[in-house]
Amino acid sequence: TAPRKWNFGAGPAMIPRPVLERAQSEFLNYESTGVSLMELSHRSDTYENLNNRAQQQLRQLLNVPANYKIIFMQGGGHTQFAAVVYNLLAWRHHQNRAAGVASDDWRAIPVDYIVTGSWSIKAAEEAKRLGANVRIVCDAKKSLGSFKGIPEEATWKTSDPNGELRTADRDSGLTPAYMYYCDNETVNGVEFPYVPSMHDPAVPLVCDMSSNILSRPVDVSKFGVIYAGAQKNIGPAGLSVVIVREDLLQTSEMKDGLFPVPLMLDYKTMVKNNSLYNTPPMFAIYMSSLVFEWLVDPAAQRVQDGEQYFEKELIGVQAAATRNERKASKLYRALDESSIYRIVVEDKAARSKMNVPFRISASRKDDPSAVADKAKDEALEAEFVAQAEARGLLQLAGHRSVGGIRASIYNAMPEEGVDVLIDFMKEFEQKQQ
Ligand code: PMP
Repeated sequence: TAPRKWNFGAGPAMIPRPVLERAQSEFLNYESTGVSLMELSHRSDTYENLNNRAQQQLRQLLNVPANYKIIFMQGGGHTQFAAVVYNLLAWRHHQNRAAGVASDDWRAIPVDYIVTGSWSIKAAEEAKRLGANVRIVCDAKKSLGSFKGIPEEATWKTSDPNGELRTADRDSGLTPAYMYYCDNETVNGVEFPYVPSMHDPAVPLVCDMSSNILSRPVDVSKFGVIYAGAQKNIGPAGLSVVIVREDLLQTSEMKDGLFPVPLMLDYKTMVKNNSLYNTPPMFAIYMSSLVFEWLVDPAAQRVQDGEQYFEKELIGVQAAATRNERKASKLYRALDESSIYRIVVEDKAARSKMNVPFRISASRKDDPSAVADKAKDEALEAEFVAQAEARGLLQLAGHRSVGGIRASIYNAMPEEGVDVLIDFMKEFEQKQQ
């Protein structure tokens, strides 16, 4: 057989091998229907069962409270950048009206963004494009010089009752529609070690968990909306998962003095139709369901290929978190101990357990007389990526916007893959001496 490849891509990313094999075995004949899942009607009982099962599995894995709805949508993370603006402004606008708040101009309603990397910037920019009153309550690059950590929560200009912005709200009579952040910045490798708490409890927290959902337990009850594109820690691209608190579901029509929420972005329409308003990305949902099942019980799907992926007792999201902690800490340790690799995220508490960006420098950390040479360093990084590729360690180049190296080690990356990477890194370093 061909030598094993390890895929460190940030997304689309690795899917557990047992899941791929299971899908392969069911590809031509899904649940004895005689046809492939992709050929089934999305209105069939067979598909509806799958749709419901996938929802229930996710509910179980993340311990989603009963007053939250799970929606399967399309369009990836970018579509959610817009969907949260539409849905929550519609909600706040109706709240204001019901409370008799004077301003009827939705453009005045603040929406608060915490910026800790390139995906939260993009989300804030989309909200601006749509005409929302975007307030950047924290900008990590401005505060720290680069995206290398998370500024102290006490320095954010949040809607906390004692905060600066809250006073301004009081003057305008407008409470923000939401406070937004990205739990794990995939490009920059910055991950929140906590859930932000410094905000007005009347302001729902919206969180992009595209690249770390299911990697650790999460207290869903602290959020208004959680969303995630599937192609990192869930399954194939084409699906986004949205978890939304029931009381926030509010659509809007032109007659409301507000933009109408496009139906395909409308959480309420999606919930009302059990994510079957139109033809859903059935295959992506099917694959995700297999991944959920694998997380609940990896042993159930272990295929006889001689590889032991996980210890049997390690199941569910807590178990995934334990594995992820172990994988990330050994990789960061190896980087810390080397003299040519430099971890990009300096704030240790904010180092992502999913995406590990680092740089390589020809001038050694332990040589005080060394002079940095950018061109030389970049050539060395390109060499690292090429040699790794030849060894079956794939997609280690950093995001094109920042360069460097990035190892993405999602749930599906076994610890063995991280070990192989660390061995290669050590070997590469030795060759530089
Ligand atoms: N949010 C995060 C955290 C991401 O990592 C990405 C994609 N890498 C996106 C949003 C955008 O996702 P999509 O490409 O599915 O639009």
